[in-house]
Amino acid sequence: PPVYEQRYYFVKNLVNQHGLKKIADLGYGDATLLWMLKYHRCVECLVGVDIAAQPFEWGGGRLSPGVGGFIIPRELDLTITLYRGSAVQKDSRLRGFDLITCIELIEHLDSEDLAKFPEVVFGYFSPGMVVISTPNSEFNPLFPASTFRNPDHRFEWDRKQFQTWALDVGKLYSYSVEFTGVGDPPAGAEHVGYCTQIGVFQKNIAKATGSSISEPEEHVYEVVYRTSY
Ligand code: SAM
Repeated sequence: PPVYEQRYYFVKNLVNQHGLKKIADLGYGDATLLWMLKYHRCVECLVGVDIAAQPFEWGGGRLSPGVGGFIIPRELDLTITLYRGSAVQKDSRLRGFDLITCIELIEHLDSEDLAKFPEVVFGYFSPGMVVISTPNSEFNPLFPASTFRNPDHRFEWDRKQFQTWALDVGKLYSYSVEFTGVGDPPAGAEHVGYCTQIGVFQKNIAKATGSSISEPEEHVYEVVYRTSY
């Protein structure tokens, strides 16, 4: 499968493997990942946040119960909510999730937003797990035009840069991190690593009790779509 699909399957497997119930996808784009996750029996709550969320996009249509929901009846209730908002804005409705995914998101953040991102996602949202994927720049010479993969990218990191950033974030907010990726390099170019690099962060148990539940509710995101099964 193409690399973008491999990224979604990576998340799907992780959700299955850990039986995760509450999942938020930051920068959900066309909502394909959320759509794939809605068929999981373990999932009870799906949330998407995107700065460019459109109220009447087809994303909503394919997330609605009518599509597939009656063919595969669910045992558990499921709610899906899409918000327009930024991954660097605090909204208390994003707290307490099992997993937050950021698939090809961070390379779209300018330096100011990238600096705010860890405090919001790891410090404030503070989910049990975080998955971050981003291009591995070491793979770029294998592409015909060796520039950024997308003109909207603010940066593309090599493995060392991503891992240094991720380990620092993990240390600061008490998460352990493991590195992997998807998109194998062709034979003979194994040294460049995966096309997409992925960090899987797990919150250290000791921190779980320390998180401040007394923080006031803050609703900043705008609901653009909501459905329940
Ligand atoms: N995650 C999707 C996927 O893998 O197909 C979409 C990835 S797309 C390259 C990046 C997405 O991030 C876009 O939908 C964009 O609107 C969104 N985005 C950019 N900056 C954002 C921010 N600060 N907060 C939330 N979403 C943002």
